[in-house]
Amino acid sequence: MSKRIFVCGLVQESNSFNPKLASHEAFTRTFCEGEALLCGKGGNTIDGIVSTLTARGCTVIPGRAMSAGSGGPVDAAVIEEFRTHTLSALKAAGTVDGVVVSLHGATLSETSDDVCGDLLSAIREAVGQTAVIAAAFDLHGNVTERMARAADFLCGYLTYPHIDHYEVGVRAATLAVDALEGTPLVTVRAAVPFIAPAHAYTTATEPLKSLMDKGHALRASGAIADFSIFQAQPWMNIPEIASTVIVTAKDEATATVAADELAHGLFAIHKELQGAPLATAEEVVRAALENIEDKPVVLVDSADSPNAGACGDCATALEAILPYRDRLRVAFSLNDQAAVERAFALGVGGTGDFTLGASIAPALSRPVTVRDCTVKSLHSGRFVLEGPAERGQPRNIGRSAVLVADGVQILVTTNAQNNGDKQFYRGFGIEPTLCDLVCVKACTSLRAGYEPISAAIYNTATPGAAGPVLTSLPYDRIPTPLYPFAPITEADVTPARRYR
Ligand SMILES: [Zn+2]
Repeated sequence: MSKRIFVCGLVQESNSFNPKLASHEAFTRTFCEGEALLCGKGGNTIDGIVSTLTARGCTVIPGRAMSAGSGGPVDAAVIEEFRTHTLSALKAAGTVDGVVVSLHGATLSETSDDVCGDLLSAIREAVGQTAVIAAAFDLHGNVTERMARAADFLCGYLTYPHIDHYEVGVRAATLAVDALEGTPLVTVRAAVPFIAPAHAYTTATEPLKSLMDKGHALRASGAIADFSIFQAQPWMNIPEIASTVIVTAKDEATATVAADELAHGLFAIHKELQGAPLATAEEVVRAALENIEDKPVVLVDSADSPNAGACGDCATALEAILPYRDRLRVAFSLNDQAAVERAFALGVGGTGDFTLGASIAPALSRPVTVRDCTVKSLHSGRFVLEGPAERGQPRNIGRSAVLVADGVQILVTTNAQNNGDKQFYRGFGIEPTLCDLVCVKACTSLRAGYEPISAAIYNTATPGAAGPVLTSLPYDRIPTPLYPFAPITEADVTPARRYR
């Protein structure tokens, strides 16, 4: 008889240092429920789940799926509404054999440090202990013990920059159906008490690449069924946070050996994953002035990356650029709703002084006055990503304007996202390849698009809610020990164990 599987999803990455709560509005990027969830032909995680379950002959019972860009913690009312909807849809569905859910894994609310753990626990309570629960996460998920007690399977992206949104859904759904069809599968979790800034590593390069390759080799050999290595989104000021390793295998002993091996491999590189010393904004501006290649220098303002939940409102790099506004062609962007409204009021061709920055998180940076700006263009904010990640996906950054101060072009936005995609500038008439210096508020996502067109890319020490120097941010609730706030030893690694 066809297995009945309920599918739902809630995805948002939270940053404790962003004071702006993520409201209902933030979840408009994708919101669907019921039948609409089943006809997705896109490449997202829900599509991977639904297509796999359908191909395996399951009956898919659709719940609600919604996601938001990264930002501050979520308004508790949004979470409560999702929870209530999910539990009533589950109740209406009657008995189900399993639940496959798409989550981020690093979601906070005003009232919870572990929204995903709360949701998985509520789902477990609703479906009972024998139903199978599988969850798909971002690689930046903070996989807590609570999540591991509630769900049978926990799968994370295996790529960063992330390009396996669909595949992680396929993996989670496959494990659920395999288990329901009688394959013995056991999941274990190990934890290494460190966090690392997201600009500092990718899965495509060392030191993380070898470790990921080891996991892939274990899976390819058939020794294990699945593995994930999670680097928790580090800008969460919460009592339970760590990097985690999850392994699923045919028995507990096999899973444990593999997870411990990967966890100790992760421990071995915990210092390297903090990244190299960073350039100052002044040093990057100097590099742009001295650059003789016919390609731009890229200043990575990762501290202010909206993709990492920061506010996108910091003008510190702009302050370093302004003394050279008549010598450098520059692309810069920031969220500043007041500046957008002023530009609309002035109209195209209007001129004036603009005070920009620190409009959302005044405690983290300071505003900068730019004299004699001209409003070059006004925009509704819609553009299409050129990728390679999520190529063709539409985005909307809200009402926006391009201001010009000599060679400096400043895209002021209402709600920036996907700043690492070249269309973030191109879509609004700013051509990165014609600039000397391009400022990008992203962590790692920019590299795929910008490496081929730039002379050099500098990770830069700027302030912001996603500050790359973690020890400079006001953490006061994190556990001890947690690297880089305290040294850790091999003995601090939590050995792999089964949580259910
Ligand atoms: Zn991520």
